[in-house]
This record gives sequence, structure tokens and C-alpha cells, in this order.
Amino acid sequence: MPSIFDKILSGEIDCHRVYEDDHTLAFLDIAPLAPGHTLVIPKEAREHLHQLSDEAAAALGRALPRVARAVLAATGAEHYNVLQNNGESAHQAVPHVHFHVIPRLGDQGLGIQWNSGKLEDAEGILKRMHTALTTDESPSR
Ligand code: AMP
Repeated sequence: MPSIFDKILSGEIDCHRVYEDDHTLAFLDIAPLAPGHTLVIPKEAREHLHQLSDEAAAALGRALPRVARAVLAATGAEHYNVLQNNGESAHQAVPHVHFHVIPRLGDQGLGIQWNSGKLEDAEGILKRMHTALTTDESPSR
């Protein structure tokens, strides 16, 4: 089933467009945490970040700093967060990859509860991650 962002991409639903190129679209969030809160999405329809093709990922990497500069220039904010949620338990509501660019304007912006722990078994996790990276194949379109 097409997500609401697919409908924005197809033009079925309107958005307040901030930026667009061949692979990405950025538009204002409809329920902003601060004025200028912008979403940057790939045109490729994938639910989670790790499912993106290298091409879509690279385009997002290029678009994000550009959009961040526009958010700062338009709002006068000096600081901001880039947030990207994957999966319901990780706070993802719309099942199409999206990056939030959220300016910090006084009390307005992203609230974070950062429950940090202690780094344990670094060798074990590193070994498993390095193995995963050696066999990693980027998803293709
Ligand atoms: P997330 O929790 O990371 O999935 O965030 C989804 C975001 O999409 C929320 O911040 C919503 O306010 C935003 N959103 C949902 N529908 C629309 C829409 N039609 N136009 C703009 N933003 C939207």
C-alpha cells in the first residue's frame, strides 16, 4: 500500500516543497517540532534506511546539508538535529525513509531522552559487525 509520502511524491497529496532533485524531495513537516522542521525523503520507495540503493543514499547525503543550510538561513537557528527513525518501536510512523531536519529555536526543537550505558563486549560486537560488512551487498533498485 502506498504510504502518505508516496502520495506526496506522485502529486496525489500536496506538500510545502522545500527542495527537489532527481532522487530526493524535501518538504515542511505538517506537525513541526519547530518552525522550519523539514523532511527529506528519497524518491525510491523503501521503508528503512538500510534498504536504500547506494544511488538513493548518496543523493540523500548530498541533499541533507543543502536543506540544513536552507533551514538555518530561513529560521535564524544556529543549531539543529537530523533524526531518522526506522521501525515502529524506533518511533517511525510513516513507512517511507525520511530524515527530519529540526532547528533548535529556544524551547522548540527535538526533545531527547538519552539513556546512555557502558560500552561492554566491544570485541564481540566488532567481530560480528566486521563480518557483516565484509559480506554486505548494497540493495539495488
Ligand atoms: P516519523 O515518526 O519519523 O515516521 O515521522 C513522520 C513525520 O511525518 C511526522 O513528523 C509527521 O508530522 C510527518 N507527516 C505526516 N504526514 C505528513 C504530511 N502529509 N506532510 C508533511 N509531513 C507529514
